[in-house]
Amino acid sequence: MSDTDEVDVLLERVREGEVRLHKLDEHTDAATAATVRRRLLAAETGADLETVAAYGFDPEQAADANIENMLGGAQVPMGVVGPIELDTGGAAPPETYLPLATTEGALVASVNRGCAAIRAGGGATARVLKNAMTRAPVFRVADVGEAAEMAAWVREHVDELAAAAEATTSHGTLQEATPYVVGDSVFVRFAYDTKDAMGMNMATIATQEAAELLEAETPAELVALSGNLCTDKKPAAVNAVEGRGRTVSADVTLSRETVADVLKTTPEAIAEANTRKNLVGSAKAGSLGFNAHAANTVAAAFLATGQDIAQVVEGANAITTVDVRDDGATLYASLTIASLEVGTVGGGTKLPTQAEALDVVGVRGGGDPPGANADALAEVITTAALGGELSLLGALASSNLASAHEELGR
Ligand code: NAP
Repeated sequence: MSDTDEVDVLLERVREGEVRLHKLDEHTDAATAATVRRRLLAAETGADLETVAAYGFDPEQAADANIENMLGGAQVPMGVVGPIELDTGGAAPPETYLPLATTEGALVASVNRGCAAIRAGGGATARVLKNAMTRAPVFRVADVGEAAEMAAWVREHVDELAAAAEATTSHGTLQEATPYVVGDSVFVRFAYDTKDAMGMNMATIATQEAAELLEAETPAELVALSGNLCTDKKPAAVNAVEGRGRTVSADVTLSRETVADVLKTTPEAIAEANTRKNLVGSAKAGSLGFNAHAANTVAAAFLATGQDIAQVVEGANAITTVDVRDDGATLYASLTIASLEVGTVGGGTKLPTQAEALDVVGVRGGGDPPGANADALAEVITTAALGGELSLLGALASSNLASAHEELGR
């Protein structure tokens, strides 16, 4: 049977209800299954899916690890910012580029301008300060007395919990297990060093074992392996305060001349914009993010490098600080992202465009030592996001934001 015949036959079987759309992969290869779905959708909706069909990844690999009911590929334009100059104390190369995938015109230009300012300032300093991917199951207990006993047991038996959790992984290590009691519910927030993996699957599998030990040793009964105190993909103060994934900080000092030449304004104007907008405005708004647009850089870097894009929620937990120093001769700026969840192995990092983007940064796959690549990626993203902060604050301070968008035709 020719490929076209096979598609026609399968299409007919789906239409007759003999084969479910999402079960097509059980009857043919992933590429053919996707072709049948496109043909069916094109006929039913009138949508032309020719571009969706033009993907460059291995359909079997994608259908196996990344997507169900595959139609094809979604394409997002990719640009690049850099060189990004940074001192990380070892993890990242001193100069690198960062691919950004976005549909927001002016974003790459803005971040790139900020990276130019950072270069002119002699480079940023960036450090991962904490590496702790969390999973927090919720347990049912009889009452507050039992809850207190269980919390005490957790605090006294962290080593046993670590042994149970770490038996499931050759890379992850348990850093903390923190109990929280709410009446007859007990949450235990397990935090792992997940090395080069973003670690959500790793932490979940490891926590399942620790939870089983808790059920065996205490009266607690597991209700849900994720009790939302983790907190994954939802705005939450716990991540902003305690961190989740990588907690990363980057800073730079710019001369007054650099601020004038590259950012077209003064240190004082940037400092005032930061205070009134990022600090006062965010406080008044009750925001968790005290920054201008860190999520822009985080989202574009996540898309380009195969991160879990929904975790941009946590990546927006960032504080920008700005100080005029040396009697106005310099501008100090920093960006601290409390919960940046990145990996260079696993998840979407194996897909081809994403893996190539990681190659551009120089961090594809496992690092040496393990964890070094994901640390480096986190530091590069945070430095680029600092560039984005400087550029936007500069644009606001010099009141040229609207004209920049106009000039770029948006
Ligand atoms: P993963 O692809 O499930 O696992 C990565 C695995 O790679 C690790 O468990 C580890 O195996 C292995 N590995 C090899 N070299 C490594 C190195 N240098 N450093 C660390 N690990 C290394 O990825 P994950 O990062 O744990 O989870 C990310 C995925 O989870 C994404 O696809 C994301 O969308 C998804 N996700 C899952 C949940 C959930 O609740 N399960 C929630 C949100 C997102 P060993 O452990 O055997 O050492």
